[in-house]
Amino acid sequence: MERELAEWAELAQERSLKGAEPVPGKPGWLLRGGKPLLDLSSNDYLGLSRHPDIAEAMRQALLTGGAGAGASRLMTGNREIFAELEGALADWQQCEASLVVANGYMANVGVVSSLVGRGDAVFSDRLNHASLTDGIALSRAAHYRYRHNDVAHLAWLLEKNRHARRKLIVTDTIFSMDGDRAPLAALADLKRRYGAMLMVDEAHSGGLYGGSGEGLCRQLGIHGEVDAHVGTFGKAFGVYGAYVSGSRTLIRYLMNKMRPFMYSTAMPPSVAAGAMAALTLVRGAEGSRRRGHVHAASLSFRGMLSAAGFQVGGGDSPIVPIVVGDNETALRFAAALEDEGIAAVAIRPPTVPAGHARIRFSLSAAHADDELAEAARSIDNAGRTAGIERR
Ligand code: PMP
Repeated sequence: MERELAEWAELAQERSLKGAEPVPGKPGWLLRGGKPLLDLSSNDYLGLSRHPDIAEAMRQALLTGGAGAGASRLMTGNREIFAELEGALADWQQCEASLVVANGYMANVGVVSSLVGRGDAVFSDRLNHASLTDGIALSRAAHYRYRHNDVAHLAWLLEKNRHARRKLIVTDTIFSMDGDRAPLAALADLKRRYGAMLMVDEAHSGGLYGGSGEGLCRQLGIHGEVDAHVGTFGKAFGVYGAYVSGSRTLIRYLMNKMRPFMYSTAMPPSVAAGAMAALTLVRGAEGSRRRGHVHAASLSFRGMLSAAGFQVGGGDSPIVPIVVGDNETALRFAAALEDEGIAAVAIRPPTVPAGHARIRFSLSAAHADDELAEAARSIDNAGRTAGIERR
């Protein structure tokens, strides 16, 4: 036990919880130790988390429906609002059916472990989210990790395991710590060629891509190839919770197979009402305007950081990483950023591979252009203070 206690004590030093309260009247900012900081670490991409329509829908549902559902949906916790939200989600995704789940983590763990089992094979991008990796472990299927976005490596692994009973290819669409895109058209191609299933996690693209925010698969026109689509309400929707979309058969199957759905209390009805209000905004003119704003802001923010000489990673998403390498440098950079009035967290292993510690900036439609221009100057200063290498 002594050894365990020493290990616990060592790990306990690694990370701690820091205060992050909202600043009244200033979306996109947070208060830490009484100091306002520009929040460049949240996933509230469309800045909807403080939208009055969502708050009002939640308030009304709370007053009429109570705080909690009291049971799982298969017991007595099912409510009209869940069916309403699922109908609207299926209509938005142009698919047969959707299922609302507690959050994206549980959706991923549940869907993967329902789709495959012992004797099956899962092909998963090395940089996929932890919840997908955990779902694979729980499924007991063989796990083949392909090099990040390396289609040739994936094809090789599929070829080698072509006789596996069932095959599942799974990928994030936009990678959470790098902000780059998966090669979705090529993955759909391989899925067809090898008779595999394709599952996508649109956590960082749902609400942001596609004409009505349906996601990247829809934007690329490959949504018809996707067997299971997971998205979350916790990021661009600004609320909490998640959904799975697919065929009617898939959704009925998951309702009867997916243990995080079957054996957990239903989401509070007020949260579903909030997600419903957010979906209406995401699909409408307000969503389009906010998508336009955050994409334009991402482009110009990347440009400003590159012009300052930083090695900016990722593609064209609102996730803008600067990889610095070792943990100490990342922590020093984050501290200097906080001194400059910016909240941007140092991301270290095991969240990213060893030697790839970074600052991950994420932008929001809540940020005004002048705030981001000012932020770029502050990042330049912080980079100098922390001795960050430039090109
Ligand atoms: N997938 C990805 C790619 C994510 O980044 C996250 C959240 N960090 C999740 C799933 C989990 O979603 P949720 O926060 O709704 O549990």
